[in-house]
Amino acid sequence: MAAALHTSSLRTPALQARGVRKSFVSGRVHSTVLHDLWLDVHAGELTLISGPSGCGKSTLLAILSGLQPADAGGVLALGQELSGLGMRELEYFRLQHTGFVFQGFNLFPALTALEQVELPLTYMGLAKGMARRRAIESLEEVGLGPRMRLRPAELSGGEKQRVAIARALAKQPELLFADEPTSALDAANGQTVIDILHRIARTHGTTVLCVSHDPRLVGHADRVLAMEDGRILSDHVPSSPPTASEAKEPSA
Ligand code: ADP
Ligand code: MG
Repeated sequence: MAAALHTSSLRTPALQARGVRKSFVSGRVHSTVLHDLWLDVHAGELTLISGPSGCGKSTLLAILSGLQPADAGGVLALGQELSGLGMRELEYFRLQHTGFVFQGFNLFPALTALEQVELPLTYMGLAKGMARRRAIESLEEVGLGPRMRLRPAELSGGEKQRVAIARALAKQPELLFADEPTSALDAANGQTVIDILHRIARTHGTTVLCVSHDPRLVGHADRVLAMEDGRILSDHVPSSPPTASEAKEPSA
């Protein structure tokens, strides 16, 4: 089996996995899904984690975003060790600093697009007028200004995913996570979603970490990490093929 990489750089990482391990027990079977994984995510970049279904991408994203705890190792997000936070502090951290875009959109059927985007903002404590202004701005940014009064049932898959992105974006998070954001979409809508994520990293300086097994995304990322069987196997900038010098051994 190929050696796992320890990806690092001289730039300040926005997010670090430090020897993250995760196992699941099902009946008498104990399977390790993440094997002491080390990873630096650079600030302001769109990083793509690619890899086959079942290799641990969603589990890794859930751990890096504080949705799930690791069994061992740590996560440093914006300089904060997540395991050092209590439940309420972690919830507050996630609300203030992170946005998450899910594969299945996770929208509330009864709410209009505008209400979906406003909801976390009012949760964050923003005054009503301010929340509304920011929500409208975000929906306009993803091209949904004219559709903001519609509910999910009246929107296409691509539009629903754009509402979900606007909802995450409106919080102005430093870290934006996206789990297979294009997998429920056709090619054209998938492309639009990727262009938006790319633009968010460029124009807002947001650190975007996207996991996907969709090979079309590779050319749109600043950096691509290939994952297999709970390990990062390669780390490269899409315009250039992986090189031996980029493939460093773990620094024990
Ligand atoms: P990917 O997103 O790359 O498809 P996942 O992270 O969803 O992979 O899953 C990796 C492995 O962990 C799979 O074998 C999956 O069945 C298993 N797994 C994920 N979540 C759980 C869970 N809550 N309980 C048991 N097994 C799980
Ligand atoms: Mg997954």
